[in-house]
Amino acid sequence: MPSQVETALKKIINDFIWDDGKGTCIAQEFLHQPKEVGGLDLLDIKSQNEAIELMWLKTYLNFSPKRQPWAAITDLIIAGLAQENSITQVIKTPFLQCWEIPSRGPRLTRLNDDIKCMIKAAKDQNTNLAAVKIPAHLRKELPAWYHTDEKLTTIRSRPEKCLIEKHETRLITDLINVSARIRNQNVTNIHTPNPFCPCQDCATDQAKGCYNPHECAQAALAKLQNLSPKWNPWGPENPIDGLSLTPSRKANNLQAKINNDEIVFNPSLTCGESLADIFRVFTNPNRLSTTPALRLPPLGRTPIGPKITIFTDGACLKNGKRNATCGGGTWVSRGNPLNASIRVPGPAQSNQIGEIAAVIQAAASVPLSQPLEIVLDSKYVIEGLTNNLNNWEDQGWIGIQNAPFFQRAAYLL
Ligand SMILES: [Zn+2]
Ligand SMILES: [Zn+2]
Repeated sequence: MPSQVETALKKIINDFIWDDGKGTCIAQEFLHQPKEVGGLDLLDIKSQNEAIELMWLKTYLNFSPKRQPWAAITDLIIAGLAQENSITQVIKTPFLQCWEIPSRGPRLTRLNDDIKCMIKAAKDQNTNLAAVKIPAHLRKELPAWYHTDEKLTTIRSRPEKCLIEKHETRLITDLINVSARIRNQNVTNIHTPNPFCPCQDCATDQAKGCYNPHECAQAALAKLQNLSPKWNPWGPENPIDGLSLTPSRKANNLQAKINNDEIVFNPSLTCGESLADIFRVFTNPNRLSTTPALRLPPLGRTPIGPKITIFTDGACLKNGKRNATCGGGTWVSRGNPLNASIRVPGPAQSNQIGEIAAVIQAAASVPLSQPLEIVLDSKYVIEGLTNNLNNWEDQGWIGIQNAPFFQRAAYLL
């Protein structure tokens, strides 16, 4: 929506609410709140427009084979905004690369208002490649040049230019293929480290006009080796990171649920199928990690100490009311130092929060390396922690009630 239309609509609403602007008694943001908390459920045009723009962004960033034609055309338009000295063949999109769209200047006039709004929404809401776990096959699909992990520099060296122009490398997987001759010694087709190597790969490259294929292969390898561990394409598809549960344990959990038995916490994180799945909005750009997520106890994978069982429960006074107060309790045995009662701080107060707070207290009081059994009767918390976490993470936790509490519990578990 053009900004002048948004302003005009806001004025019409304001005049209607405040009788032609004869005085505004309550800040607008309160009127947007739900009626249950004293608001008017008044349409927030600005937020609604931003939400629509983020949905466009989601469609634009869908790099699956079903990508919409307008998204591919938008790539070309946005690519035109890259710096003059960039190598155009390898400019894809700033959302997958380290170059940025200029925030001002004459080049911006090439964008229409819709694309400008979408880019602004992406920036304002901190859109980033911030998925916790990025599968190896997606790391290979990323653009090889102006890689998201790199600092923006001018591509100047002969081998780099040759890799782009003669070897036509575009993706990380292309660099892997070019560097293969150095990494794998093929007995029937031996590569020798000199510009005139007669091996099959070098001969093919020479025919394309490359006069030092060995040097180019070395440059490709160096580029791959410089990537930080999170983006390194040679990491295994399913690394031993403690972030997945074995299939047999998953099957046991299904049975345990039916029998109301012990369910093993499943820390699995979904690995997306396409590049679109690794984008996140509302991220904190200062907290983006370049190391892969890991769930290993500090002293290794072997559990240390005997299993400890903690009973937890939550409680709330005046549940559902404005002045509700909640808390939780943990109990191990009479006189045990882990027995605790806690009062939940902050404005969010409900029985459900009391229940999850008690689990947080229990998980925080036992080291990750020690086996822990938590016994509780809250179906809401059990379902949340044993069934819903994956879906919630996939949804980016948008609209999930009590998300910060569940995130804290999942982190501790
Ligand atoms: Zn060779
Ligand atoms: Zn070359």
